[in-house]
Amino acid sequence: MIVLKFGGTSVQDSAAMDRALDITFERLERSPVLISSAMAKITDSLIAAADAAVAGDGEAVASLLDAVKERHIKCAYEFLKGQNLNYAVTRINEIMTELRSILRGCVYLKECTPQSCDAVVSCGELLSTVLLHARARERKIDAVWLDSRELIKTDSTYGEAAVDFKATETAIRKAVTPAAGKLFIAQGFIGSDANSLTTTLGRGGSDYTAAVFGSILNAEEIQIWTDVNGIMTTDPRLVPEAKTVNEISYEEAAELAFFGAKVVHPATIQPAVAKKIPVTVLNTRDPEGIFTRISEKTAYEGLKAISGKKNVTLLTVVSSRMMNAVGFLANLFEIFREHNTSVDLVSTSEVSVSMTINKTDKLAEITADLEKLGSVSVEADKAIVCLVGKGIWKDSRNVTKAFAALEGTNIRMISLGASDTNLSALVPNGKLNEAIISLHKAFFG
Ligand code: ADP
Ligand code: ASP
Ligand code: MG
Repeated sequence: MIVLKFGGTSVQDSAAMDRALDITFERLERSPVLISSAMAKITDSLIAAADAAVAGDGEAVASLLDAVKERHIKCAYEFLKGQNLNYAVTRINEIMTELRSILRGCVYLKECTPQSCDAVVSCGELLSTVLLHARARERKIDAVWLDSRELIKTDSTYGEAAVDFKATETAIRKAVTPAAGKLFIAQGFIGSDANSLTTTLGRGGSDYTAAVFGSILNAEEIQIWTDVNGIMTTDPRLVPEAKTVNEISYEEAAELAFFGAKVVHPATIQPAVAKKIPVTVLNTRDPEGIFTRISEKTAYEGLKAISGKKNVTLLTVVSSRMMNAVGFLANLFEIFREHNTSVDLVSTSEVSVSMTINKTDKLAEITADLEKLGSVSVEADKAIVCLVGKGIWKDSRNVTKAFAALEGTNIRMISLGASDTNLSALVPNGKLNEAIISLHKAFFG
């Protein structure tokens, strides 16, 4: 079997949905499961509606929801008739009615808890998959609509839920029996917890859903269909000359995604790695064009791509007394664990430790605890620029080249990945784009 995941722009209107279905129908004999995101920008609109509800602005909520409904109804009328049109319009109305009633409660209370927010944003994927299902039937395909809330079982960390693989495996195995000629359609991004309350897997989480389905169903391939020709040497929105990376390893792709390349969700790779399932990243608008294959090993080593991550905070602890003391670093990292904050980059010297974090909601508490170990300085508004590629530093000319390209940029920290797969440098937020452009020019011309 094969899993096909379509992102927001790949299902943004009736024409895009038809293109996604064309691609899927060509693969019907491979027993496909289709995972879809919400139509482009719908998740953002639903989050805006939740924010408006918290502000008590019922009018803004109503107008945002009207626009969401209008887009789906318009799409339904464009490509459905008769029974299929009735079915889709009825389901859209049902979902919208539920959405309105949740948000009415939020406006009333001027509050939208993470739990309510997940119930709200999940509607984007429910709506898009209703349309895809109806259209597949209109085009005479044997299609089954699955409810991912019943299949993807998670913990109760609303907004960023962790998948319970055991429960999910049982649910998916029971409900999904892929077969040639038959199409299963499910929502990306959404799931539910042990109390059957809706959860979501974090922004961009549909990729992860695809990987979970693929790994449980032992897919021969997971195809991530998006709006660019695969993983490129850097974000083509920033550098239009960026080229497709034909082959990339799981490890390299995970580093790239972790350090900011939005093209695949960082967690996607992990379930695929465990089962050695190849993941391909392809362009819905250029289905026969070049694409990327992510797999265990690549034929060549060296720099693959450059990514960047903004809004990072640098923490430095200086302690001449304690650096050499046994257990100092263990105590230091324990503080981050206690405050549920992960450290991205670390660099140590004789008397200091520098670390970067992305999540700053517990910054005050972390700083207070770190001060018990030494003097602490905090520098906000930093960015990580990251060069990724297995074995890049075997050739020392690469290091020289990278530093030459970054000349004149105020670098606060350097980290050579222990696994010889990345080199990261910390630069000011405002210099990130410039640094990426300059590095890309130096390495890829
Ligand atoms: P989807 O909605 O299909 O999930 P996303 O918007 O999440 O698509 O991801 C695709 C986007 O990722 C591209 O349009 C591109 O601008 C951006 N991107 C960032 N870094 C890269 C990269 N290295 N290669 C390709 N695309 C990248
Ligand atoms: N619709 C969700 C988002 O916009 C999930 C996804 O598209 O992957 O984040
Ligand atoms: Mg995405």
